Amino acid sequence: MRPSDTVGNTPLLKISDKLYAKFETFNPSGSIKDRIATYIINNAEKNNLIKKGDTIIEATSGNTGIALACIGAERGYKVKIVMPRNMSEERKQMMRLFGAEIIDVDDGDFDRAIALRDELSAKHGWFNSNQFLNPLNIECHEKTTGVEILNQTKDIGEISALILGTGTGGTMMGIRRTLIKAFPNMKVVACEPAESPVMSGGEHGTHGIQGIGDGGRFLVDLKVLDGIILIKTEEAKERARRLIKENGIFVGVSSGANVLAAERWIEKNNPDGIVVTILSDRAERYLSIY
Ligand code: PMP
Repeated sequence: MRPSDTVGNTPLLKISDKLYAKFETFNPSGSIKDRIATYIINNAEKNNLIKKGDTIIEATSGNTGIALACIGAERGYKVKIVMPRNMSEERKQMMRLFGAEIIDVDDGDFDRAIALRDELSAKHGWFNSNQFLNPLNIECHEKTTGVEILNQTKDIGEISALILGTGTGGTMMGIRRTLIKAFPNMKVVACEPAESPVMSGGEHGTHGIQGIGDGGRFLVDLKVLDGIILIKTEEAKERARRLIKENGIFVGVSSGANVLAAERWIEKNNPDGIVVTILSDRAERYLSIY
């Protein structure tokens, strides 16, 4: 068995009577992004788009980079990661330990990271996993994360809402596709950093909820959203610290934002069924900012 063979089939944690969360830290590099890294690379191998010794390039706020670096180490690919300089040191160290090379761009500048990735990929013929536009990103969550949630909630009850923040939007759109078939009235609610409320029509700004609010809507179909909840960076951090201290759930800042947004929605809407969210990654990669 290889590390990538252990991706997915993560536990569903009960946070409260109405709130359940998929515990994605169980994946081999510690985040939900192992799912798409493995799915996209497996697909590329199957279609002979990539072979051992080739180079993979991606633009990422960190976790996709760590996941690609991990699978690259496992399977003998070189990995180059383009990312904004203000992403946490721990993330950069993890990628370097897996043997990846990091190419910095200015703080919070995902547009530049994506443009530079495309330039370098075209110039050198490197494989571009293209997470911000790749339909395989959505398909992966539709076929894996979404199906797992459906099975895991079978004996708990109906799902009233799916609530989470979006980076590429792949997680939300993919899970939604599966769940909405079983629960046609399910609400789909995004959360985004209050400092960068782009999907709500505001200005892009720098914020500290790494992994969500990357400055665009990317794969998110705004038409299917039933609402957007704004969460401040400090509130997200505080909620994450409480999950760690009061529940022993060792997660990163975006997980704090997701749980807080879901709790606020439950408080306001008092749903009959349960709400599902995601705990995207582990706390170690935020020690310097917690
Ligand atoms: N939280 C964290 C910590 C992440 O790294 C990501 C991925 N960027 C997300 C949430 C959002 O996932 P997605 O890209 O599927 O929207």
